Amino acid sequence: MVKVIQGKEGDLFQCEVCGLKYASREMGERCEAWCTEHKSCNLDIIKSAVQEDIPPTL
Ligand SMILES: [Zn+2]
Repeated sequence: MVKVIQGKEGDLFQCEVCGLKYASREMGERCEAWCTEHKSCNLDIIKSAVQEDIPPTL
C-alpha cells in the first residue's frame, strides 16, 4: 500500500518499496507495483517523483 504523507504542497503518496514520493496516488501505486514486481525502479515512473526531500548536495 502506498503511504499517504503530508507534504508542504499537500498530500504525497509514498512507495513503500523504494521510498519515492508522488503527488498523485496513481503514480505512487504504479511505482510500488513496479518496484514490488521488478525489484528495481522504472525511470519513466520515478521521473514523476516529488524530490523535495533530496538534499541539495546530491
Ligand atoms: Zn517505488
